[in-house]
Amino acid sequence: MLLGLVSKRTALALACAAMAGAGSAQERGTLEPKPLPQLAHPEDPATPAKELFGRQAEAAPLAARTIGFYSRGCLAGGRALPVNGPAWAVMRLSRNRNWGHPALIAFLERFARRVPSVSHWPGILVGDLSQPRGGPMLTGHASHQIGLDADIWLTPMPNRELSRYEREEMSAVNVVRADRLDVDPAKWTPDHLAVVKAAAQAPEVQRIFVNAAIKKAICREAGGDRSWLTKVRPYYGHDYHFHVRLVCPEGEDACRDQDPVPPGEGCDGSLAYWFSDRVLHPKPAPIRPRPPLTMAQMPAECRSVLLAK
Ligand SMILES: [Zn+2]
Repeated sequence: MLLGLVSKRTALALACAAMAGAGSAQERGTLEPKPLPQLAHPEDPATPAKELFGRQAEAAPLAARTIGFYSRGCLAGGRALPVNGPAWAVMRLSRNRNWGHPALIAFLERFARRVPSVSHWPGILVGDLSQPRGGPMLTGHASHQIGLDADIWLTPMPNRELSRYEREEMSAVNVVRADRLDVDPAKWTPDHLAVVKAAAQAPEVQRIFVNAAIKKAICREAGGDRSWLTKVRPYYGHDYHFHVRLVCPEGEDACRDQDPVPPGEGCDGSLAYWFSDRVLHPKPAPIRPRPPLTMAQMPAECRSVLLAK
């Protein structure tokens, strides 16, 4: 399997490369999603796996199981996060990406309920989790493939039920300043910090991705207990939402854990890199898209997940 040849670090880089692009929180959805045209030759080995997983509208009716790595894998027995909860609302319903491993769904329901007790937010707005059977997606994210990743908007849930239209059209708030060097003080609040902190403190959270400017603000404002800072990792994009990644569920041997976060708060040297000229103002380079993953490059078990009836 190709993943064996690629270090987990590289796999992470691949996982995140697409995060800032299409499918981000502020991209609008639609009230009338059009069904994808049928594939003429789905069995052709050259068919991108995203074309196959992107056409599965229901979970694989199998025992819940995470197979592979965050950026190369799939999900059996996925569960949908209910679109409304006491302290959450799912956004962009047209994408049908509110599916996850039961461990992720349980985490989100628990975490969302905790949010009103640690902040002034009535709850959270939930962006993409995974597709019903996980796998690569036709747009956006390279990760989110195994039902253990979730995007949470950096915008509080309003104190009322959102309409279908609002869930497709509403924009998340970009909390990063225009020069990208820090957060925008008119948008970033202590509640943002409290919500990210509550997520990072959950033992099942493996790491969290935020924009470097947000990490900088968190380093400055964290106060007393700073033990959770290590889990909050700077990355491209992530200025409208933060990304929560869970550890592999207990006893699931087909799930490949990511390397543990390095020790330390990550507030000094490694953070400075993200504010260097080459990161903030990259030279335009020709874009050479990577060839999409095919089924042969996915864990073998993902074929049964794809085909399960
Ligand atoms: Zn994400």
